[in-house]
Amino acid sequence: MRQDGFVFKSGDLVHEKQGTRIAFEIKERLGFDFGLNIKPVSLFSAEIVFMKIDGGIHAHIKNAHIDFEFTCTKCGKKYTEEVYVDEAERVYFFERRKENGDVFDNYYVDLKNMTIDISEFIRQEIILHFPTIPVCSSSCKGLCPICGADLNDSSCSCGKLEPEQTKPLAILKTLYNAKASGTEKKDL
Ligand SMILES: [Zn+2]
Ligand SMILES: [Zn+2]
Repeated sequence: MRQDGFVFKSGDLVHEKQGTRIAFEIKERLGFDFGLNIKPVSLFSAEIVFMKIDGGIHAHIKNAHIDFEFTCTKCGKKYTEEVYVDEAERVYFFERRKENGDVFDNYYVDLKNMTIDISEFIRQEIILHFPTIPVCSSSCKGLCPICGADLNDSSCSCGKLEPEQTKPLAILKTLYNAKASGTEKKDL
C-alpha cells in the first residue's frame, strides 16, 4: 500500500484476508475550500489504519489535528484555533450499495485504479469539528455596539454614559440646562 496525498493505493490490501491492517501517519496540506473566513494554516496530521473487512476496507483515523485561521464573531479579528478529531471511521465498499440512510454518503474503493481517496472523509470530519461560534477567546469583549470600538484594545466612553443621557430625548434636557445656565450668566 502506498500513499499519495489523501489517495492510497489499496491493491495489495484488497486481496489480503479479512482483518489485515495497514497503518499510516498522514501529514498533508489540505487543498479544500472551507469558505471565505476559514483557512488552514498548518498541515493536517493524523494516524490512519486501513483494515480489510467483508466487502470493503474500513478506514479509521485517530488523533487528527490541524490549525485553522477563523474570524472572531465578536470582535472580527482573525485568530488561530486547532481543530481536533479524536477519531472517526468510514467503510469503503467494493461494490455499489443502495443509499443506507446514514448521514454520510457511501464511499467506495476505486477498483479500476485500486485506490482509496479519503479526502472527502477528512473534509467532512473537519467541518463537523469546527467551532459552532468562532470566538478568539472566551473572554473576548467584542465591539462596542454604539461606536464600534474594539473593547479588547481600548475602552470607549459609550458604556460610561448615564442611562438618562443615552435616551433619545436627553438632548432636550441638555439644551434646557444650557439655556438656563446662559440666562444665569447674563444675569451676572
Ligand atoms: Zn474576539
Ligand atoms: Zn463605544
